[in-house]
Amino acid sequence: GQKVVLITGCSSGIGLRIAVTLAKDEKKRYHVIATMRDLKKKDKLVEAAGDTYGKTLMLLPLDVCSDESVKQCINNVKDRHIDILINNAGVGLLGPVESISIEEMKRVFETNFFGVVRMIKEVMPDMKKRRSGHIVVMSSVMGLQGVVFNDVYTASKFAMEGFCESMAVQLMKFNIRLSMIEPGPVHTEFETKMMEDVAKMEYPGADADTVRYFKDVYLPSSIDIFEAMGQTPEDIAKCTKKVIESSSPRFRNLTNSLYTPIVALKYADETGGLSVNTFYNLLFNFGPLMHITMSILKCLTCSCLRRRTISPN
Ligand code: NAD
Repeated sequence: GQKVVLITGCSSGIGLRIAVTLAKDEKKRYHVIATMRDLKKKDKLVEAAGDTYGKTLMLLPLDVCSDESVKQCINNVKDRHIDILINNAGVGLLGPVESISIEEMKRVFETNFFGVVRMIKEVMPDMKKRRSGHIVVMSSVMGLQGVVFNDVYTASKFAMEGFCESMAVQLMKFNIRLSMIEPGPVHTEFETKMMEDVAKMEYPGADADTVRYFKDVYLPSSIDIFEAMGQTPEDIAKCTKKVIESSSPRFRNLTNSLYTPIVALKYADETGGLSVNTFYNLLFNFGPLMHITMSILKCLTCSCLRRRTISPN
């Protein structure tokens, strides 16, 4: 029979594309429940879904930050039966920590960390009873490696990686699979929203040097990296489909081979010095050439590393 897949954050970006890709599966193997906070934002998804809308794809409202909304949404699913839960909803946060209020930081954790925990708590008990299910979490390379000026976002993704790494062990006993997807940069509204937020920022509390390092050193190289290395939401949707269709899905799934050397640095030097120094050099010494430097790093690393990513093709 069809597998019921519930996805969070489907009004845009990666979530929208995963929903549409699964709904358009040639063998119609999926019944997709595409959820979003505000159904008024459904047009882009409905248009992309084409004639799968109402057939293999349906919509439900869901705000991952609300206990009530999560409970109601899952209760609206037939028999509360979900085979595959894809936790995709997430928000970014960029800038000097001095300028960010604790309230704003909590909002990021509320969505990226507690949002996922809330979904898992609601869906897992039924999966446990059935001794089957697959939970997928849209993490990030930044769930594995800290990135300058992304301090809080990175922390929220690390928190989720830690939570899931712990959960995976007991879930295995119940025959429930857990997979993290770790994309590098992806061209979505995520990027646009962050750049808009940055343009509005006034940096209260941050000194002039910090603001300069952020605006004139970090931002240009970050934009450069996005342009040179960014994947598309389609790429990530194809990787996700591969993960859920694998007979033995892996726990971690990096999608961009340019980032495997970065992650490898961390495991190559347990003191952490190699990672911190490399990032320092990338930012302050190679800034404008950062993506070229990263490509060289990739070429210098053995090909066995490259095979460790999940490729969209
Ligand atoms: P996006 O902004 O297009 O999509 C995020 C979606 O989450 C939006 O539709 C938004 O409305 C939704 N959302 C936010 N708060 C929500 C809430 N409380 N309840 C329900 N939905 C909510 O950006 P995207 O790039 O498609 O991001 C999707 C996921 O991918 C996020 O978890 C993000 O952290 C992760 N990711 C993105 C990138 C990237 O470069 N774009 C890289 C790695 C990981």
